[in-house]
Amino acid sequence: MDSLEAFAAGKLAGLDARSLRRTLKPTHRLDGLWVERGGRRLLSFSCNDYLNLSHHPAVKAAAREAVDLYGAGAGASRLVTGDHPLLSELETRLAGLKGTEAACVFGSGYLANTGVIPAFAAPGDLVLIDELAHACIWAGAQLSGAEIISFPHNDVAALEAMLIARRLEFRHVLVATDGVFSMDGDLAPLDTLSDLCRRHDAWLLSDDAHGVGVLGDGRGSAHEFANTHIPLQMGTLSKAIGGYGGYICGSKAVIDLLKTRARTVIYATGLPPASAAAAIAALDIIENNPALVTAPLAKARLFTRAADLPDATSPIVPVIIGKAQAALDAAAMLEAEGFLAVAIRPPTVPADTARLRLAFTAAHPDAEILRLAELVRGLVSTTGVAA
Ligand SMILES: *Cc1c(COP(=O)(O)O)cnc(C)c1O
Repeated sequence: MDSLEAFAAGKLAGLDARSLRRTLKPTHRLDGLWVERGGRRLLSFSCNDYLNLSHHPAVKAAAREAVDLYGAGAGASRLVTGDHPLLSELETRLAGLKGTEAACVFGSGYLANTGVIPAFAAPGDLVLIDELAHACIWAGAQLSGAEIISFPHNDVAALEAMLIARRLEFRHVLVATDGVFSMDGDLAPLDTLSDLCRRHDAWLLSDDAHGVGVLGDGRGSAHEFANTHIPLQMGTLSKAIGGYGGYICGSKAVIDLLKTRARTVIYATGLPPASAAAAIAALDIIENNPALVTAPLAKARLFTRAADLPDATSPIVPVIIGKAQAALDAAAMLEAEGFLAVAIRPPTVPADTARLRLAFTAAHPDAEILRLAELVRGLVSTTGVAA
């Protein structure tokens, strides 16, 4: 075996031994709620399509029409010829929703964070990151070359102590957190965080991938709080908005700088026009259907009450199992019952906190939610680990 083959085979064997190998499983998302996998039809609690908009007739029609008119792809980077007018229309809509002066659309949420953070932080600066923040925040910070320190999850006092101790050593400080934590479903204290950042001249970036469309009247997690000032509001078009793409909302100067400096704007192909058209159609639905927007959290609360878990604060509910293999076994048990609840293992979550991460959508039938809750109560009592 040559050294590359030996390296790959050795890595895979190590992952297998720890139940940490991941494999792709072809899945048909039949209607965005029911999925077909391995020849079986399952009710999915593992899609981030919280409002089921990926399959909404108006969203699909908007994408289809844009493909017919403008083609399947953008053709080039936005700064060359890939800046279709639908992108600026979408940016205006996103800025309006978030209450900012401007917005910049990216190819994905991952590309947004990996483009934005290096545009505002460099060697000589400091990036402070919540320890449970999303992988693409860490990736963006690493690309920036700034010093990186993590702070304990949602611990504003610990963050303040770090700022007091070290703020003056650095030219600029950026604080980055998820607004809704993707694997735990809890919210960052964005009001106290933004107040703290303002007092210490630190720039707050909130990643609201899981907040837009489902919290704060659809405007996102920042709007769950009375008072926030978040200069860098990042999000994705790929979850509640139902399509694909990412964005950041901020002041005009911040956005103008991104459009000329973010490497994932300059050196990546623009978002396909059809993705922008689909997102605009989805925003129309979100802005005109307040009852739809509140439904995923209400469904999650129905579940947490029936399962004797702490009240859900977002549509994401973690059921912590512990060991990776135990989480895989729990997922297999639920799959035998007709539910898709994918096990989430390290390094996506910390060691010994492997879990089922349940995501509730507006369309989940109540009776099925209650049946799932009954099964999860049995699971938690047999594994002896409370969520
Ligand atoms: C999914 C996710 C992203 C990445 O967004 P994509 O559009 O899927 O690339 C970023 N941050 C968080 C918190 C996420 O959950």
